[in-house]
Amino acid sequence: MVVRIDLAIKPTPVQFLRKVSAEYGFDLYIKRDDLTELLGSGNKIRKLEYLMGDALKQGATTIFTSGGLQSNHARATAYVSRKLGLKPVLFLRKGEKVLNGNLLLDMLFGAEIVEVSSEEYENIDEIFLEYKKEKEKRGEKVYIIPEGGSNALGALGYFNMVMELKDQIDVESFEAIVCAVGSGGTIAGISAALSFLGYRVPVIGVNVTTKNADYFVEKVKKIVRDMGKLGVEAKEPRFEIVDSFRGPAYAVPSDEDVNVIKEIATKEAIVLDPVYTSKAFRGTLEMFRSSGKRILFVHTGGIFGVFAQSGRLV
Ligand SMILES: *Cc1c(COP(=O)(O)O)cnc(C)c1O
Repeated sequence: MVVRIDLAIKPTPVQFLRKVSAEYGFDLYIKRDDLTELLGSGNKIRKLEYLMGDALKQGATTIFTSGGLQSNHARATAYVSRKLGLKPVLFLRKGEKVLNGNLLLDMLFGAEIVEVSSEEYENIDEIFLEYKKEKEKRGEKVYIIPEGGSNALGALGYFNMVMELKDQIDVESFEAIVCAVGSGGTIAGISAALSFLGYRVPVIGVNVTTKNADYFVEKVKKIVRDMGKLGVEAKEPRFEIVDSFRGPAYAVPSDEDVNVIKEIATKEAIVLDPVYTSKAFRGTLEMFRSSGKRILFVHTGGIFGVFAQSGRLV
């Protein structure tokens, strides 16, 4: 049986972006999942409601997960672990080490941080198992959460988000729903839920990683199939992955992305992040400019990323 624990502050608001809509010639609404929590803000906490429910059910004492040094998912996992009395161990890909943003919070939560090289990260599952054995020798019970919390269980968090959304606004009135794609769980959950409800609204995922669209199409389909085993029967989900707004590299914003962050903060008093949502938002503006369409953008959070990249932003 699937167990969900209440962690996020729900429902998050849906707002109309008046100025941006008037200026860009389409109706843009935003689902404020940057407001799911304070320290647990963003999309990962919705996935953790299910993943941590499972961890507790299995009697875990220690939580493993992985990500980049400034991973939002790692920070949310460290936070939620401490909230539930569990010990977080974060396996973070080595990179420029800025003691601010998510990493600073990881440290305040006393997370055990294991820095791994990019090559080691390719085989993170082996490293997990090695460390798991060590922890088990010391009597810990380890629960492993995959990168981004993106498996079928985690994706249920975004299935749940759509159930929340349909009570807030007429979902079928939108011509598309747009979100950023980093590990695929968010778009999998959203598209599975839309298909489950029989809605024909397509989901557009703006890929911000170095992997390509084909990889994510397969991964998302697999997650949706696996959700079937958890009792959520979704037929062929309607989604598309767009590769054209990735910028210079993962977690590196282009000048245009930086300008979008400043523009939206100034016009709408909403802060986008430099890794995911600025790229997805810029993609939304470019794809739908002057279209007259009605679009919903899912703000997946990432606020602490602006502190880690402050020098780049101003
Ligand atoms: C992780 C993350 C995403 C991507 O979500 P996935 O489910 O991993 O595809 C988007 N935005 C923010 C701010 C994130 O932290």
